[in-house]
Amino acid sequence: MSASILIIEDEPTLAKLLSYNLTKEGYSVKVADHGETGLHEAMNGYFDLIILDIMLPGINGFDILRKLRQSRIATPVIILTARTAEEEVVQGLTAGADDYITKPFSVAELFARVQAVLRRAHTGEAVVETGGPEHKAIMIGNLTIYPEKYEVDLEGKTVFLRPKEFEILLYFAERPGVVVTRDQLMNSIWGYDYVGGERTIDVHLSSLRKKLDMDSHSVQIESLRGVGYKLIVRSGG
Ligand code: CA
Repeated sequence: MSASILIIEDEPTLAKLLSYNLTKEGYSVKVADHGETGLHEAMNGYFDLIILDIMLPGINGFDILRKLRQSRIATPVIILTARTAEEEVVQGLTAGADDYITKPFSVAELFARVQAVLRRAHTGEAVVETGGPEHKAIMIGNLTIYPEKYEVDLEGKTVFLRPKEFEILLYFAERPGVVVTRDQLMNSIWGYDYVGGERTIDVHLSSLRKKLDMDSHSVQIESLRGVGYKLIVRSGG
């Protein structure tokens, strides 16, 4: 199935150029020419990638990006920025963009960026389906995590986790491949004033690994001695 791309761009010429070339390349493309409609599409549609202009009527690109990430929608986003505006790039990446393209750009550069971002999104990093809150899901390896419902499915079957176990899983699923220190985990899950000690982490992790049968499935939380932990996705498993 071809990847679907949402283009949020108000300049008709540029929107047409993007849409024409991406369609010709085999992508399925939708264009929104206003910030409000763009945000609505991004929140409610199913897209593999969003190409997002910054200066838009209604809501600007930064605010759209922030709203998406606040709603835990992790659809990859490439922002379109003006050549002279370096701070736009920094601000965009900080707000959660995956990459950027500076205007004017060549079609070859556009394809290269789009392919790279889509490839990254499909190599085990968390992909969030958009939809209503009850449908919001992070799919990673053979797990489907429903943040709003505190539920996780392993190959389609619901696995019952205790709230802290779920929060740990969600924390890692939102940071695939990223090293998380014990302190970070402790502070985010239990809070700074918790005095239970680090043994608590071990107990919860060991239970989580067992319940999700991590030894024989694709998603694993690795312990890195003296450093912390990392969620990895093995291909195939
Ligand atoms: Ca614009």
